[in-house]
Amino acid sequence: MANKNIWIGNGKVVFPDRVFENGSLLISDGAISAINEPCPAYAEKISVDGKYIMPGFIDLHVHGGGGSDFMDAEPEAMQNVCRAHCMHGTTALFATTMTCEDDVLKSVIDAYKKAIELPICGAQLMGLHLEGPFFSSRGRGAQPVGEERIPTKEVLYDFIRLADGNIKRWDEAPELENTDLFAKVMQENNILPSIAHTSAIADIANRAFDLGIKHITHFYSATTTGQKIDGIVYSGVNEAVFLRDDVTIEVIADGRHIPKEHMLLAYKIKGADNMALITDAMRAAGTDCKTSMLGAKVGGVPVVIKNGVAQLPDLSSYAGSIGTMDKALRVAHLEYGIPLTETVKMLSKTPARIMNLDKKGELKVGNDADVVIMDDKFEVAEVYVCGRELYKR
Ligand SMILES: [Zn+2]
Repeated sequence: MANKNIWIGNGKVVFPDRVFENGSLLISDGAISAINEPCPAYAEKISVDGKYIMPGFIDLHVHGGGGSDFMDAEPEAMQNVCRAHCMHGTTALFATTMTCEDDVLKSVIDAYKKAIELPICGAQLMGLHLEGPFFSSRGRGAQPVGEERIPTKEVLYDFIRLADGNIKRWDEAPELENTDLFAKVMQENNILPSIAHTSAIADIANRAFDLGIKHITHFYSATTTGQKIDGIVYSGVNEAVFLRDDVTIEVIADGRHIPKEHMLLAYKIKGADNMALITDAMRAAGTDCKTSMLGAKVGGVPVVIKNGVAQLPDLSSYAGSIGTMDKALRVAHLEYGIPLTETVKMLSKTPARIMNLDKKGELKVGNDADVVIMDDKFEVAEVYVCGRELYKR
């Protein structure tokens, strides 16, 4: 594949601020080398016949898909997840773990380190996202939080050392003890700390922001709004987030976790620059299964797929989505009416910025050639990851 030059043209090229009719990309050595220039004689010419040419989607938060889950702790299962989401336009993703026993998490980290040595066969693995175990038992959602755990230096460094620089995101409920230590260790190790599964009031959220915890995991899902404690009403994390321009959020855009007005309100206040769309998908994403398992195949949480979302069998809580990034685009743009350029930004440029991925997120000369071709119904036709065609309908 080295030195291969591919010209993809006759399409509508989606940039962060406009859609360029009848544009093109030239891909050389896996990167974008020219935009909107005629096809050079040495390049393979691909006409997309008026379809959209978009930057590849970057999923900040995904557990599984195609029948596999990162918690399966097998490199091949991880590849399967990446293949499944690539078919839906995801070209890069952060592998999300669930709250579990330390030994299980360690086996997932070991498997991840093996998976990134394998050839890229779908969405590119960009790092691990540890969703837990430092959560509030009141804000657990479907996370199997048993005893509440607080972050200690020993536990944090135990995993950081084992993961060898591969942990890129880590979640915590900021009302727990040692949140200042957690924030400090995250910053020292270039890990994005994030508020998640919390029961905090606004004051605690603001303190966390000031400590540098400035991202919110699945905003509106297991985050708080006004609540009465001992006879006094307090604002929640949600209100604090809306008032802070330096805080970014991600929302589950499966059309279920975030109903329409919630999504539009978050978009209106935070804007596309500060809000990423995620799948938070579990293993049933991209399959027709009616029952499944959240987390590991053995020892996970049994769930049912009902009304287009994974739920606990008693329907008391959603338990991960079966969403994909192309679905997220259709929900935000076609169903909720958010402009296409803004929607695509929330699927690519904004997640890239949140994670400091400087070669991804935008169709621009010098960036990795992560490209999604979509038809007029916004169904995926072709996907390129680092210049290689890894999916064709
Ligand atoms: Zn999750």
